[in-house]
Amino acid sequence: MKTFLIVFAVLLISNYAHAQQLPARWDELTADDFPAALQKSSRTCILPIGILEKHGLHAPIGTDLIHVREWAAHAVTQEYAVVFPDYFYGQINEARHQPGTFSLPNKLILELLEATCDEIARNGFEKIILLNGHGGNPEFLEFFMQGLLNKRRSYAVYLYRPENDSAFVKTYNQMHRSDLSTDLHGGESESSIILHYRPDLMHMERATADNGENQHRSSLPDLYTPIWWYSSFPNHYAGDASKTNAKLGKLITDHEIAQFVKALKAVKADSKTIELQKEFYGAVDKVK
Ligand SMILES: [Zn+2]
Repeated sequence: MKTFLIVFAVLLISNYAHAQQLPARWDELTADDFPAALQKSSRTCILPIGILEKHGLHAPIGTDLIHVREWAAHAVTQEYAVVFPDYFYGQINEARHQPGTFSLPNKLILELLEATCDEIARNGFEKIILLNGHGGNPEFLEFFMQGLLNKRRSYAVYLYRPENDSAFVKTYNQMHRSDLSTDLHGGESESSIILHYRPDLMHMERATADNGENQHRSSLPDLYTPIWWYSSFPNHYAGDASKTNAKLGKLITDHEIAQFVKALKAVKADSKTIELQKEFYGAVDKVK
């Protein structure tokens, strides 16, 4: 009986301790937890950036947001960092003709992201990692990153830009069934990620209801126009989601989580970036 009570007490305590592990999500931390979270994360905060846009008629509008939310959540179980809540204020002008698109003006999304980073830093973080899940954001984010040197900052921002390794690409190409060259938005690969993470949100019965073929309506070699995407994919859908499969989704997500964890570890160990920024700001101040 005594042994049973001791075992029972140990189990109780360990369960309680387990349940009380430090959450990674900023919004799930208590104010009392925050100093411990700053320390455990080496003052590193992940800002997952999604978007709200149509993803065919079969996948959720929040596909990119759900993707990065899950991506960050899985990564921090392997390497702790604080994860900022849902952020979907990016560049999506090209889908404003479709239902459910949330597209803020360019000036505002730049200012909002800068203010968000400043406020994350004001809370004690020294490193912010932008984890982007939307294909229409890279130009906006890179311009934002370049602009960060416009004033002295006590923190560093890192934009995660993964390169796919050849081993992964080989397996991916073997598993991928639709035309790789047109699987650009809401098609097999993106839909497979959501079918893996959130099958409850997918409507595979509608996967062939929309036309995701390139319409080739305008061709201006060596020229870029804001209407290029719409001219080719007026349904804001590019690809063939009928080939969606959860196994491919698992392959992609397992790989991208492992790859991101490496980058996260590198950021947490990095002291050079802030040091070099300080040196740069010092040089700027000397310019009279
Ligand atoms: Zn997407």
